[in-house]
Amino acid sequence: MVEDLNPFEIAKKQFDTAADLLKLDPDLRDILKTPKRQLIVSIPVRMDNGHIKVFEGYRVQHNIARGPAKGGIRYHPGVTLDEVKALASWMTWKCATVNIPYGGGKGGVICNPKELSKSELERLTRRYTSEIFPIIGPEIDIPAPDVYTDAQTMAWIMDTYSMTKGSTVLGVVTGKPVGLGGSLGRNTATARGCEYVIKEACKVKRLAVKNCQVVVQGFGNAGSYAAEFLQKDGAKIIALSDSKGGIYSKRGIDTAAATEHKKKTGALMELKGTTVISNQELLELKCDILVPAALENQITTENVARIKAKIIAEAANGPTTPGADRLLFEKGIVVVPDILANAGGVTVSYFEWAQDLQGYFWDESEVNNALERVMVRAFKEVYETSVKHRIDLRTGAYVLAVGRVMEATQMRGLFP
Ligand code: GLU
Repeated sequence: MVEDLNPFEIAKKQFDTAADLLKLDPDLRDILKTPKRQLIVSIPVRMDNGHIKVFEGYRVQHNIARGPAKGGIRYHPGVTLDEVKALASWMTWKCATVNIPYGGGKGGVICNPKELSKSELERLTRRYTSEIFPIIGPEIDIPAPDVYTDAQTMAWIMDTYSMTKGSTVLGVVTGKPVGLGGSLGRNTATARGCEYVIKEACKVKRLAVKNCQVVVQGFGNAGSYAAEFLQKDGAKIIALSDSKGGIYSKRGIDTAAATEHKKKTGALMELKGTTVISNQELLELKCDILVPAALENQITTENVARIKAKIIAEAANGPTTPGADRLLFEKGIVVVPDILANAGGVTVSYFEWAQDLQGYFWDESEVNNALERVMVRAFKEVYETSVKHRIDLRTGAYVLAVGRVMEATQMRGLFP
């Protein structure tokens, strides 16, 4: 049977597995599965050549039972409403897994940011912000960076929102530049959080990080820093990739040299001392730790039998399908699921928002220490839940998260 790769169908399947274990009431199940609000906007943008191009964008709020909606905005040609719905629901479960007071949301614009100039990107971002203005805000829904958006994008959103309001509203987005209400440590937070849970997973597998061979797929914000941090921990990075292609070296790749090479040439390929490797070959390499840090549906029933990693830490959202999950669990491969492994980003977003609302800013070590406490505690809770029910870590995380959102929903009751 061919696997259904629709991300929202996958998200619902993952939810159902946990809901079955929790013996969740069917009425409640429907509430928790369905996104609370979905907004589709069209975004007319004056292009540099003088013509107008109309883009389509989305903002989905999946659940707000435990706090305002929270989640990134993605700029990618492959964005679909179902993908944004899935990503929004994963945010709900992610925030509940690490126990921060947010619901889940996500945004996306169908565009290819690599083909847009900086001023076109700015106009697109400002118009998109103005279109979703009625449903965002520090107490309503707080966007952040995701695939191909960054601190500059967040600065434009903050400015557009603030100009419309008539006063500076720092807490409307997170992942802002540090000089503009951003938090120290936010830029590296997804990777830091991932590093912390990888260390915990290594303890479970009785591996020492410094003896590990690591493969990282994707060299954006999460992947590049994850590779750097694991290398600093003494691990050997044997393969890396970006959207243009992968590189491999048995002796290990220096991540600083890789970053420099990518800055200079726009790609990782042809870095001295490495050979070219395809995406499939990279995923199937013999290694201790595999970090998928790119897009969804990378490990599927098609390639799962050939995956040889001992630990998979999902820095990306949705890289593993439910069919693949089952086999990985049977094979004893530890999968640290996205809603835990990449939750460091939104956790430091929470710290940023709290700092913005208080107007009092923390130093970097305070941020990193607080992040480590949150991540290690969450890993332990997820691990204990999975041992107790004899389930994989993903289902463990969902049991914990769905349980928390269910409790909040029941305590609040149904309006009206
Ligand atoms: N886009 C990131 C994620 O998928 C960060 C979201 C946030 O900081 O709100 O978790």
